[in-house]
Amino acid sequence: MTVKVAESAGFCFGIECAVKTVYEQLEKKVPVYTFGPITHNEIVCSELEEKGVRIINDVSEADGISDSVIIIRSHGVNEEAYLKLKATEESRHNTIIDATCPFVGRIHKIVSEESGKGSSIIVIGDASHPEVEGISGWCKGKCTIIDSEEEALGYNPENDEKTVLVAQTTYNLKKFKVLVEILQKKIYNINVVNSICNATEKRQRETSELAAVSDAMIVIGGSNSSNTRKLVEISEKECKNTYHIQTGKDLDLKSFRSFRCVGITAGASTPKTIIREVQEIMSEMNFDAMLDESMKTIHNGEVVEGKVIYVKEDEIALDIGYKADGIIPRSEYTNTPNLDLRTVVKEGDTIQAKVLKVNDGEGQVSLTYKRLAAERGSEKLAKAFEDKEVLKAKVTEVLGGGICVVYDEARVFIPASLVSDTYEKNLDKYKDQEIEFVVTEFQPKKRRIIGDRKQLLVARKAEAMKKLFDTIKVGDVIEGTVKNITDFGAFIDLGGADGLLHISEMSWGRVESPKKVFKVGETVRAFIKDIQGNKVALSMKFPDQNPWADAEEKFAVGNVVTGKVARMTDFGAFVELLPGVDALLHVSQISRDHIEKPSDVLKAGQEITAKIVDFNLEDKKISLSIKALLPPKENETEGAAENTTGTEAAEESESVSAE
Ligand code: SF4
Repeated sequence: MTVKVAESAGFCFGIECAVKTVYEQLEKKVPVYTFGPITHNEIVCSELEEKGVRIINDVSEADGISDSVIIIRSHGVNEEAYLKLKATEESRHNTIIDATCPFVGRIHKIVSEESGKGSSIIVIGDASHPEVEGISGWCKGKCTIIDSEEEALGYNPENDEKTVLVAQTTYNLKKFKVLVEILQKKIYNINVVNSICNATEKRQRETSELAAVSDAMIVIGGSNSSNTRKLVEISEKECKNTYHIQTGKDLDLKSFRSFRCVGITAGASTPKTIIREVQEIMSEMNFDAMLDESMKTIHNGEVVEGKVIYVKEDEIALDIGYKADGIIPRSEYTNTPNLDLRTVVKEGDTIQAKVLKVNDGEGQVSLTYKRLAAERGSEKLAKAFEDKEVLKAKVTEVLGGGICVVYDEARVFIPASLVSDTYEKNLDKYKDQEIEFVVTEFQPKKRRIIGDRKQLLVARKAEAMKKLFDTIKVGDVIEGTVKNITDFGAFIDLGGADGLLHISEMSWGRVESPKKVFKVGETVRAFIKDIQGNKVALSMKFPDQNPWADAEEKFAVGNVVTGKVARMTDFGAFVELLPGVDALLHVSQISRDHIEKPSDVLKAGQEITAKIVDFNLEDKKISLSIKALLPPKENETEGAAENTTGTEAAEESESVSAE
């Protein structure tokens, strides 16, 4: 919208002088009266009244006033009134100041002189207007006031009478010309004096021109101002949206919303201050309208979308197409404490957020991202709860009684008992891990959203177990992962069930402790020895690796073998010939001398050479003798010594397993 003010709008020269005169007299601190309103503008008159200026409307009132200043209005008065007022200067010690506009005063003079010479006077103007009343009052003969074509057409001049025609200074020029044309046809000897004030003519012309190019016209002036009413008439001919107002308060701004071009003019009695006020109102409205058009309106709770203008460690600024930028502080972006926002958002990104406050007090829009995300997350959680959908989210907190995951900024609590299918002593390992869960309780109003991971694990294990038992059978070689190690064996995760690898099944050889053989997480290859319900027994004692398979030939009686002392008892030492094949070296077979106990002459790990003196495949027992390899003592016979030792060893080994 453009707003244009007519150059000639407002106080004319005559009124400006008159008003100025009143203010000058007020400064002298004397009682000030005006004869009639100083101008036809109620605002100006009220201001003067507030300052103590009183208005008298009849000359007789002046007789009650003394020692005062009486200022004659700009429109002037008739001669009689003028003379009576002047008379009070002497009688009442008043000072009479004639503020009649000089242009009006000139008309008084013409009328007075011409009528004095015998001319008839025609005044084109409004008979009720003080100026016209004053002008006619200076006529000394015939005076006719004409204000319409009818009146002009109805005028009947006397034969050859000399006529002088003058006009009210603020009369409509066009109308004046029309009336003059009519009268000139009727009056032969007519002298037309165009006394319409130049200021008035210019104002009316400008008003017409401005109205012709404006969508709406504002004409400012008093309701009783004749010249203003004429401006309204002129404006209405060119622009049907013409509004006559006295001050800016009279403006109905809604009426102007659809106009693109508004013109402002004002009557001669309108002060500049009022014109400026109206102009400012329209300009502000113009600005507001532009803002309204260019800037969308937003309200608290609305979801807006914006482009990231900048990102700081703890703050994001968004251009949301509103007159103010939107700000998302870190605390409204995420629940993650101390998150550096620069690591998750960059300039130019598009982000949706919710309006917390249209004006945060610093002229910016306060936004929240996390609450919008939480709401959307909550909606998804509600649906997931209904559909029993499996969700995946990161563990953000480990609490005493469970863990918290954040799903699209919505918080879900998983109690410790529902975190896993096995007892979890320490939940810290879940921190920052992404886990799957199902929502088993959804009460957002109570801020209670419960997740369950255990049931997923249980179900998956059951499925895996079924699949496992559908495919395995005794004798199958299988691979698994060492899950747990005890003194009696190791539990091997077979992917659906755990198999027990007993210590006795770990090797054909002797295993002192499972922990010395296996580590948790290690991959183990074993075969299924037995299946009882859900229990699987494993073994690593593969038959093709059985050291007893060719033992009968390798360890035949009479063979000389070497081995390492594995362990000792009071009655003998067990010597490992092969992993899984131990033989007994009886204490009596260590030497031809008497030995109290094996440890007196042997050490664990010591390599010895001995002779096989007995072999029992069925019981997997082998007896050794070092003594049999030694030469007999002088008092011993070789044969007696060999027979005795073999029998003793065999008898002892009856009750002792080589394994
Ligand atoms: S409009 Fe013209 S004639 Fe009338 S008061 Fe103003 S200056 Fe004087």
